[in-house]
Amino acid sequence: MSKRRGLMIVLSSPSGAGKTTLTRKLLAENDDMQMSVSATTRKPRTGETPGKDYVFVSTAQFEEMLADNAFLEYAKVFDNYYGTPAQPVQDALAEGKDIIFDIDWQGAQQLTQAAADDLVKIFILPPSKVELERRLKSRAQDSAETIAKRMSKSAGEISHWAEYDYVIVNDDLSESMDSIRAIVTAERAKRKRQLWLGPFVNDLVQGR
Ligand code: 5GP
Repeated sequence: MSKRRGLMIVLSSPSGAGKTTLTRKLLAENDDMQMSVSATTRKPRTGETPGKDYVFVSTAQFEEMLADNAFLEYAKVFDNYYGTPAQPVQDALAEGKDIIFDIDWQGAQQLTQAAADDLVKIFILPPSKVELERRLKSRAQDSAETIAKRMSKSAGEISHWAEYDYVIVNDDLSESMDSIRAIVTAERAKRKRQLWLGPFVNDLVQGR
């Protein structure tokens, strides 16, 4: 009776703003939430798990999926395709589960075209440029060149902040988590997502 429609939660940010940490915490706290796993034609990197980080496919397979309308959205980044498989998203929403998308502003724009009603778009900002660079350096997983590349890309990403429903300045992790929890709670409670309300109100007025 308490069935609700799931949320499509898009989290975007420049690299280093803390999105991955926030996403992991959110998933760990919510059994009824899952990650959207994109398909890509790029090769797996060291440490990536097929099916968890991405579904790795050939270009021919990707193009076949495209022809079958299997993607909610897709993009060609450099020489590789990336796409969001539609079926897992549709299944999750119908089961009342939320699904999180770790995609950039281009993907967010396309999802807005495809599924605006189910979408909740959150943008994560770093508290300052200095702090963003400090966080990128402290990850110790990227070369100086990669860090410089990520820093120069960040202004472009940040320029899309106003296309999002919510913007969180991630200064303090625990405060940012509080904000995200509040957003998720309120969005889940929206009337249009409470599929049980219509029949409930009917019964209520009929005295059943
Ligand atoms: P990477 O190869 O570093 O994992 O990702 C390269 C870029 O592709 C990133 O900007 C990432 O946000 C984007 N990306 C990953 N998955 C998808 C997707 O399913 N759709 C779109 N539009 N972009 C994606």
